[in-house]
Amino acid sequence: MLRSTLLKLSESKGLAHWVTTNGTTRRMSHRFVAGERLDEGIEAARRCNDAGMAVSLDCLGENVSTPAEAQKVRDTYLNIFDRIAQEKLNANVSCKLTQLGLDLSVEFCEGLVLSIAERAAAYESFLRIDMEGSIYTQRTVELVKRVRAQTPCVGTVIQSYLYRSENDIHDLLSYGCRIRLCKGAYKEPEDVAFARKQDVDANYVKLMRMLLPSGFYHGMATHDPHMIAQTIRWAAEKQISKDDFEFQMLYGVRTDLQRQLVRDGYRVRIYVPYGQEWFPYFMRRLAERPANLGFFARNFFRS
Ligand SMILES: Cc1cc2nc3c(=O)[nH]c(=O)nc-3n(C[C@H](O)[C@H](O)[C@H](O)COP(=O)(O)OP(=O)(O)OC[C@H]3O[C@@H](n4cnc5c(N)ncnc54)[C@H](O)[C@@H]3O)c2cc1C
Repeated sequence: MLRSTLLKLSESKGLAHWVTTNGTTRRMSHRFVAGERLDEGIEAARRCNDAGMAVSLDCLGENVSTPAEAQKVRDTYLNIFDRIAQEKLNANVSCKLTQLGLDLSVEFCEGLVLSIAERAAAYESFLRIDMEGSIYTQRTVELVKRVRAQTPCVGTVIQSYLYRSENDIHDLLSYGCRIRLCKGAYKEPEDVAFARKQDVDANYVKLMRMLLPSGFYHGMATHDPHMIAQTIRWAAEKQISKDDFEFQMLYGVRTDLQRQLVRDGYRVRIYVPYGQEWFPYFMRRLAERPANLGFFARNFFRS
């Protein structure tokens, strides 16, 4: 119930304006967001690298409404790849298609994604297309397949809460696509997504078992100790090397677990978001763990 309410509120423009212009809530966002400027994202990425973890940098933003806005976002991502190379960071990039004009036109969006992917290829890096709400899933999968046909340094994300994900994995693997597997962060209707946590988790394990032996390098994105333990057990059983996949976690979430996995010799990549449009991302992080809400409420009223 609380999760649904928070996810619904994440779409409120009025609340977004209030929260992102309030000094206290802006400070609180730093728990999950590196900062509002690229320099802050770069600094956070460097700290992760120094701790033995790779990074995926994301400039936050969703659902632009004009082509000019989407082109500006494309330029931002081109610049992120340049900065990563200049700063010699162990980092790639994640972005969202609605930030690059998917709502305006698929063809237009695809052109922008292709130019970012080409910049990724020039640096032998990688562009991850995040997965958004289920109304975008089909268009995202199809667009990623088309861009991959031109430059293979692009991959995407599959969410274990969707019923369709097993088919999408078969489809994407047949194109050699690298996949990040996560549980899914959006509010979805029961006709497209599992509602019960145990079903989402069981599907996560099933999909992880499909991905790991596929011969491609995938990312297991979760902070759930049970999902991590199952992944480690399955990899050992199938004699899949620790270098043949990575765990991925979000900036500011379960840093203890991140460091433990590094100590145990696993590859870990941290998703580092930065930017001014942090409100929906921040609300999804609150929705994932209602205890976060209590933490933020206490800090808000104390300040
Ligand atoms: C690298 C990465 C990329 C992602 N990309 C996408 C994407 O493209 N599309 C998409 O829909 N979703 C994405 N997600 C979000 C994901 O779908 C889940 O919503 C999120 O990771 C929580 O699921 P979980 O696997 O950690 O398990 P859960 O069962 O939700 O949580 C397990 C445990 O992890 C800890 N935890 C989880 N979330 C939080 C939090 N916010 N704050 C504090 N503790 C927490 C708690 O200890 C919790 O008990 C991504 C997640 C990661 C890690």
